[in-house]
Amino acid sequence: MVITSINPATLEKNGEVQETPLEALAGIFKAARDAQRLWREIPTAKRARIVVAANESLADRMEELCLLISRETGKPPLEALSSEVYGAMDSTFYYYNIAEKVLDHKEDIDLGFYNSLDKTSFLIYKPVGVVSIIGPYNYPFAIPFSQIVQSIMAGNAVVFKPSSDVVLVGKEIQAVFDAIPSLPRGLVQTVYGSGSVIGDAMVGAGNRVIFTGSTETGKAIMRKASETLTPVCLELGGKSEMIVLPDANLHRAALAARWGCFTNSGQVCSSVKRLYLHESIAGPFVAELVELTRQLKQGNPLEGNVDVGAMINEFQMNKVLKAIEGAKSEGAEVLCGGRRNPSFKGYFVEPTILGNCTNGMGCVQREIFGPVLPVITFKSEDEAIEMANDNQFGLTSSIWTEDHEKGVRLGKRLETGTVMVNEVVYTFALAQTPWGGPKHSGIGRTHGKLGFMEVVDPFHVHVDKYKEPDGWWMPYDASFVELMENFKIIAKSLIVRD
Ligand code: NDP
Repeated sequence: MVITSINPATLEKNGEVQETPLEALAGIFKAARDAQRLWREIPTAKRARIVVAANESLADRMEELCLLISRETGKPPLEALSSEVYGAMDSTFYYYNIAEKVLDHKEDIDLGFYNSLDKTSFLIYKPVGVVSIIGPYNYPFAIPFSQIVQSIMAGNAVVFKPSSDVVLVGKEIQAVFDAIPSLPRGLVQTVYGSGSVIGDAMVGAGNRVIFTGSTETGKAIMRKASETLTPVCLELGGKSEMIVLPDANLHRAALAARWGCFTNSGQVCSSVKRLYLHESIAGPFVAELVELTRQLKQGNPLEGNVDVGAMINEFQMNKVLKAIEGAKSEGAEVLCGGRRNPSFKGYFVEPTILGNCTNGMGCVQREIFGPVLPVITFKSEDEAIEMANDNQFGLTSSIWTEDHEKGVRLGKRLETGTVMVNEVVYTFALAQTPWGGPKHSGIGRTHGKLGFMEVVDPFHVHVDKYKEPDGWWMPYDASFVELMENFKIIAKSLIVRD
């Protein structure tokens, strides 16, 4: 069986890859385990030096990769550069720089009373083994690439499955790691096939799962992982809110809302998906935003300067069109866009702004993974925070105000993993800052130091230099009774009084 890759902007065939037979998976994981046993013995600094060589081949093939990403996803090649290939290189360089410091960090633990008995403890971090990485279609290069880098630098092997919409990008990721000299064969392997078959079988076959995709699939993976108690890191959906206060730089905020909602055709987990405007500025703000949105150039991203490309496939496009119809039937007003772009053969949805929305409407509550922005007004800051938190997702949020302290103060009340004051979306591309959020947006964090922590196990080492038998060992004779009397005294010293 082959998987065919289609250009969603032109509907032309990009190419195909051979599906991985399910029966081959056991051998693939075995090869990964064998490679990992050798790899984990290499000191962290040396491993990091080997892996950072990936950046050489990325630099050589940057343009070719951006064109491929564009052909397979329908996004402009410049977006592929800024948010995918550049992001991948930046994260590789970042992890290279921090690997030894974070992973080889040995933390001595204060044991209190037990230190006096010549007992010591420390904490180190060990690679978990084989990490199963299951990727989404929207950032098919940057997301899995940085997850693979953080996993192997930490001493693990990886089995990676790209989304079936972006298999050629997956193949290129494999090629980059294959080209690294000194990387053991089998350390990074890519498999191809549907999520419900190959993806499902990957869960529990390794020692960790890093999954990026929809909340629905994330829940299925967690259920499956519970059978083997395999820990999961789940980067799931979002409905990121942008709250604009009256004192904000309104022009900059309008430009940010436009980019934040329509970059990558709105197929970003942290896209601005709910715009909350103070009622005093809502009218002129919406007028400017609609005007700015009408100026966007949509089309085949490989022909000229295009701002907004195509959506990934017909199914996703139809889901978004259906959500727009649903919003209309709930009373939303289409202020611009609102339909499939009739000028093109491919899967283009026009950038859409929905007015007349209230917080309880489906278009405000549910994730619409496309270029659709519902606008809601608020009367007070408290009301804005309350409405923003009244949502099942919690990935990112943004607050717009020239009073930065107030932005941070209000932002801390939002139930998201990240709040940005006067910024949207882009911290997603930062290797240095943690990524992930609570509620239905997932579990765990990728990126930053916390990303490393997802692919290591804390390992506690206890060393006892005491020469005598411990007082609490059997037999429970008179000396044990005496020791327990001392324990009573010590226990009373642990009471804290003001
Ligand atoms: P999906 O959940 O549909 O698919 C993601 C991956 O999971 C694909 O590789 C898919 O394979 C695979 N998969 C599907 N079913 C299973 C299963 N039962 N077991 C194991 N793997 C499975 O997500 P999308 O690709 O549609 O991505 C869009 C979603 O991802 C949005 O909700 C978005 O918000 C979220 N996302 C979250 C990010 C974050 O960092 N929080 C970042 C990017 C996206 P296949 O498609 O080949 O069948």
